[in-house]
Amino acid sequence: MDRWEMYTTKELKPLGWLRDQLAIQARGLCGRLHEVWPDVRDSAWIGGDREAWERVPYWLDGFIPLAYLLGDEEMKRTAKRYVDAILDRQQPDGWICPCKKEERAAYDTWAVQLISKTLTVYWQCTGEKRAIDAVRRAMKNYYELLRDGEVSLFNWGEHRWFEAFIALNELWRLEKEDWIRELARILASQGTDYETQASKWERPLNQWTYDTHIVNIAMMLKEEAVTCDLLGKPYTDKASRLCDILTRFNGTAVGLFTGDECLSGLSPIQGTELCAVVEQMYSLELLYARTGDPKWAEMLETVAFNALPAAVSDDMRTHQYDQMSNQIACQTFPGKPVFRTNGKEAHLFGLEPNYGCCTANFGQGWPKFALSAFMHRGETVLSAVPVPSVLKTEEATIRLETEYPFRNRLVYHIDAQKPLKLIVRVPSFAERLSVDGEERNEKELCFDLPEGKRQKIEITFETTPQFVDRPNGLKSVRCGSLVFSLPIPFRTEMHEYERDGVERKYPYCDYELIPTGPWNYAWCGLGEKPAFHGLTETPFSSERPPVTLDAALRPVEWDYEDGYETVCAKRPGTAFAGEETVRALWPYGCAKLRMTELPPAQKT
Ligand SMILES: [Zn+2]
Repeated sequence: MDRWEMYTTKELKPLGWLRDQLAIQARGLCGRLHEVWPDVRDSAWIGGDREAWERVPYWLDGFIPLAYLLGDEEMKRTAKRYVDAILDRQQPDGWICPCKKEERAAYDTWAVQLISKTLTVYWQCTGEKRAIDAVRRAMKNYYELLRDGEVSLFNWGEHRWFEAFIALNELWRLEKEDWIRELARILASQGTDYETQASKWERPLNQWTYDTHIVNIAMMLKEEAVTCDLLGKPYTDKASRLCDILTRFNGTAVGLFTGDECLSGLSPIQGTELCAVVEQMYSLELLYARTGDPKWAEMLETVAFNALPAAVSDDMRTHQYDQMSNQIACQTFPGKPVFRTNGKEAHLFGLEPNYGCCTANFGQGWPKFALSAFMHRGETVLSAVPVPSVLKTEEATIRLETEYPFRNRLVYHIDAQKPLKLIVRVPSFAERLSVDGEERNEKELCFDLPEGKRQKIEITFETTPQFVDRPNGLKSVRCGSLVFSLPIPFRTEMHEYERDGVERKYPYCDYELIPTGPWNYAWCGLGEKPAFHGLTETPFSSERPPVTLDAALRPVEWDYEDGYETVCAKRPGTAFAGEETVRALWPYGCAKLRMTELPPAQKT
């Protein structure tokens, strides 16, 4: 097993399209949330009277690395203002959350676990010792309260107990104190072991439970990877076992599991919550670093390049709570929603459709992803996810210029002050791999780089579009890490209003997406390769997608789902309804209304 260490914002910076994407995020909702959203602007965490639990820590968990990756001084000052206010309110005994002493036993300490993770990120970005000292005092206090039975794990804290290990592992790395292992042991003994709950994942329960909650599930994938060392246990690849069950009974074409908002089966018209998208990405990043197993990196790419952009608008000012694979409309349901436990607006693009957790949490997706571009072990550097980035360490500067995943060409510029080894992970789907024009056949490219010599390495490969089998005889289309969907033309309807003291006002208002074209097709065939049209400043543009793929389609009779006029049936009829036609498929993440799973036109 190859184990890798992560870099921080001090060493890694985004370039190219990834920097453009992060800049959009900084101009978008995440970069402005402290100005527009009462639960962050007036939070109890900073002395206000609004939300006193997960929302500020969730938001900072993305906002802080975003500020440091972009080197944005104003954002850094905002991050510091929030962190200062939180640290100023830490109690003498170490308790750090905005909750009175007499209310601690009833307070769900998921917030203790989460703020410790967020402040660890702040410490890693800034090197400010007072931040990690505060984490140490908060965790020591958490240990004492749990040990003495003054608090215990229940609800979210019980189901997300492993999240505290992001901070605990960092504390242990800095100083090996016995109480850290004691706390780890207590958390594991009071927390949920999902392996004992997996039988609940085999069919949708149609009820809300913590054990099938999609965000818990997404977080849980990293449980063993982040806890086994401190617990002194061997790594047994629990994530693979659980991921196999989840994929078999709840998998989607873009590497997610359905969850609206608990596990919902295999249907392409069930949704997945945006929090689960970014949490699954973070889990996959840590799983890959812990194990070096390339399947985690490939799953990470699939989720990041498809599911994340799909659920967020081009300007990153609005987002969906639930995204669907076959999503023919995003319109408020007049009656019962198609979702199992989510509300009738959960698929609208808005400020806080359904519930505000994703509003606060979705910001961690791109910044944490940007921080997994390169990893290291000793003098060996790993190019883990080939996105445009520059790595600067004392030993070397490595600049990766690429338009991947839209084009399969990677150019590394290396300036090594000391001899080093560079390993490049080659995706399993790469064909006709070549290095500096020479054909190669490895799944991992290894370069020994001498010191003091500037070097350029050019890697190219090809990818072939292919159909992927989905349940009920349907098929989706993949080419490399991109899933291609049939885009459905639409018009938007904007809604400005105020609810529960929260203003939805342009540009942070709600949008319904209303289809203006057909969606009922079957696959006849695929073009040989995607056409690259060039990147704009909006990498996953819903108006000018950087890449498209031609497909031959044939209209097929396809009803609406029983009882709905804005949801397609789970599967089509068999009668054809017209002539074959060629249409351009778009990347799933660019097609806001789309059909992803279609039947084959030919009987097989
Ligand atoms: Zn959420």
